[in-house]
Amino acid sequence: MRMYDIIMKKRNGGELTKAEIEYMIDGYVKGSIPDYQMSSMLMAIYFQGMSDEELSIMTLCMAHSGDMIDLSSIEGIKVDKHSTGGVGDKTTLIVAPIVAACGGKVAKMSGRGLGHTGGTVDKMEAIPNMQTAIAEDKFFDIVNTHGVSVIGQSGELAPADKKLYALRDVTATVESIPLIASSIMSKKLAAGSDAILLDVKTGSGAFMKTVEDSIELAQKMVAIGEGNDRKTVALITDMDIPLGHAIGNSLEIIEVVKTLQGEGPEDLTTESVEIAANMLYLSQMGTLAECRKLAAKAIDDGSAFAKLVAMVEAQGGDVSVLKNVENFAKAPYEETITAQTDGYISHMNTEKCGIASVILGAGREIKDAPIDFSAGIIMLKKTGDYVKKGDAIAKFFTSKEESLKSAEALYQEALEIGGKMPEEKPLIFARITANGVERYDQ
Ligand code: URA
Repeated sequence: MRMYDIIMKKRNGGELTKAEIEYMIDGYVKGSIPDYQMSSMLMAIYFQGMSDEELSIMTLCMAHSGDMIDLSSIEGIKVDKHSTGGVGDKTTLIVAPIVAACGGKVAKMSGRGLGHTGGTVDKMEAIPNMQTAIAEDKFFDIVNTHGVSVIGQSGELAPADKKLYALRDVTATVESIPLIASSIMSKKLAAGSDAILLDVKTGSGAFMKTVEDSIELAQKMVAIGEGNDRKTVALITDMDIPLGHAIGNSLEIIEVVKTLQGEGPEDLTTESVEIAANMLYLSQMGTLAECRKLAAKAIDDGSAFAKLVAMVEAQGGDVSVLKNVENFAKAPYEETITAQTDGYISHMNTEKCGIASVILGAGREIKDAPIDFSAGIIMLKKTGDYVKKGDAIAKFFTSKEESLKSAEALYQEALEIGGKMPEEKPLIFARITANGVERYDQ
């Protein structure tokens, strides 16, 4: 078999066989297939797509490229969650404690920030001393004791995805439905949970820009999950506006704390309750309506916040910053950004808002660069708000004074301020299960 022939077959719209896909993925992981040939294949897949059969074979092959985690030593139904990536998306650290407070089990492996999107592991590391690389038996113990642990992905979880993702990131092949579906589902299958909640983001800050594409991606991922005996539900949620008010690692942890104490922004609270309710539903805790009530109650009675504190403590983190968020280290430079004109904020290019936060130091511009945990943005006004010229619209925080100018220029460019109030859009567009698509927006 030759990689050249396999590339040509896909380039010409052919359907790859199981043997060809296995040859390609195994060869790439082992290093016998070079990056330049795999880049060419990724571009061919980007343009030609993949059949459901090809997608399912490739996902399994990627999942089995490394460790398949066995969670059987954790009692009960283990429920996982994955977001396709967004700006200000700190929901994992809200929903995982909610689910645990209601008696569910969450043994979750999360990723770091990618491009303009943030990552849960980076956010957790904003908590001083928080351990995100934990030995498997300790990880299982924490879940058995507290119902929840969130750690970083080990290098041995789906290494094929690790290599492919890094290549996609630099070859303009991220935004492809089969490539995103296989990337996410290979990790979810390898991570071993019984049930999976997928949060598929849609809009200017998401990899999928339209609801229709997001639904198609969700349907493919639900089919892969169900086809591998994992109960899988996907929600299509808005990422045309950053979620909550905070972007940046310690700023987002502060917002997590506020939300779990019942004082979070409305969009973040509503979306977190819906995600947690679906995870509880997958954990067989009741009907969806009952699970919504359970999730909301866990915020109201403080039990979800107590679970976050217990998890952080068990992972070595300094809980004093959760009990008093004033204890988080402050960024040395702070600047208030003001509106340049009067009118409604009719649109926010959410990807640009994310990049502005990366420029301030909240994300990485080059691989493995250190993160400035105190850097980021507090959005005082968002899409739909009316502003007058000179009104404060955001606060920027950074340790690099010189970054403020370019971050502000990009943030101003991201905002459209016009005369008309924009049409209100739903926060959650649809719910996709094995039974089909339930639209919430029609
Ligand atoms: N998140 C992933 O894990 N993979 C993708 O391809 C996109 C988002």
